[in-house]
Amino acid sequence: MSSIEKQYQVHWLTGQLSDASRETMYRRSIEARVRFESLLSLVLAALIFGMFAISDFYLLGLTREYYLLITMRIVVVSLCLLLAFIIARWGGYSHKAWLHAMPLWIFATGIILIVPLRPESLSTQVTAVVVAIMAFYLLIPNLLTVVTFASFYLSTGFLVSAVLFAEIAPVETLRLALLLVMTNVVGFCTLLRLEGLQRKQFSLLHEERDRNHQLLKEIAHRKSLEEQLRMVAERDALTGLNSRSHFMKRAEALLQSSRLEKAPFCLLMIDVDHFKSINDTWGHSHGDWVLTEISEVCTLSLRPKDVIGRFGGEEFVVALPDTGLGDALIVAERLRTKVSELPIKEEMSELCLSVTIGIAIAHSEDVDLKALIMRADQALYVGKRDGRNRVVMCRKGMDDG
Ligand code: GH3
Ligand code: MG
Ligand code: MG
Repeated sequence: MSSIEKQYQVHWLTGQLSDASRETMYRRSIEARVRFESLLSLVLAALIFGMFAISDFYLLGLTREYYLLITMRIVVVSLCLLLAFIIARWGGYSHKAWLHAMPLWIFATGIILIVPLRPESLSTQVTAVVVAIMAFYLLIPNLLTVVTFASFYLSTGFLVSAVLFAEIAPVETLRLALLLVMTNVVGFCTLLRLEGLQRKQFSLLHEERDRNHQLLKEIAHRKSLEEQLRMVAERDALTGLNSRSHFMKRAEALLQSSRLEKAPFCLLMIDVDHFKSINDTWGHSHGDWVLTEISEVCTLSLRPKDVIGRFGGEEFVVALPDTGLGDALIVAERLRTKVSELPIKEEMSELCLSVTIGIAIAHSEDVDLKALIMRADQALYVGKRDGRNRVVMCRKGMDDG
């Protein structure tokens, strides 16, 4: 048996969940309903019990027994109504089951007391007792133990009272005892089944809720994994810029729409000058720091619609939509200046940080991104050759390599 099944196992005799904490949970979940149903049953039972005063009057007339009976009925009805009120206000079913038991014992006592005062109407009273026992079992919700004890008290009390005051024959006593036992057994089994079924339903509901909760957690976990995977695929781990492949995707889309809108489109290829010597002089971690600073200053200098990516080691690439050659030149110069003005760590004070930038424009309809990158790269190569720390535009002659 799994641990969940154990938690929701129902006891065969009490109809309650074997797991105490689950049982408390179940009781709490039905507390409001039990309070309302108890209140309703008690008010109804008190009214019916009180109305029997009419039949008392027809049977006994205004005799001493009638006055005793009506007094007893008034006491029972008043007590029950008072208890109904107390239960509705403070009758926490989960920890005050005794409060729910009290009205049953009062009713039972009232019914038992009728026998000595009206012994001649015993057959009617037997019917009333059977109905009362069934009502205890069926109308008082979820209190099997409480109901069983109260019904047992009513049955034995009534039987003893019948023997003592109605003076019934031994065979009659046996017949009455059997009838009461049968009524109790049927009532008990019915309520036991009902309690078990209700708790099963509660258990299934909770199991489903637990599973849904588990599933939601799993979904959230998977989503975060997906997000992490996406980040790994789309972002460069060091600089946080677009990875090369993601840049290609985004730049391709921008180039397509520029083509459709017949808008100018430029591409910058940025390469850090003498980066290897930075690594060699100050170490790899300082080199990494320089790359992060450059990527940050570039990102801040660009428009939100521009796309920047890390193309390789110390190379960056920028796609500038809606930008002609003149404006691209201004942007590239700005980036170059910003990089050269970057505040450098104290221990790197001798470093003259600079970048060389190659620019290419998508001037004809058939140009594709890779060809554009190649042209920007060629311009960059010219810049390196001519002394670095400069911006070079790709000219017609470079196009064909
Ligand atoms: P040039 O001016 O001609 O571009 O010279 P360079 O030294 O910048 O170019 P080169 O291609 O010779 O060296 C690039 C160096 O960048 C080599 C490589 O070790 C280093 N590099 C590549 N990726 C990283 C990185 O993620 N972090 C660091 N710190 N260094 C890197
Ligand atoms: Mg390089
Ligand atoms: Mg370089």
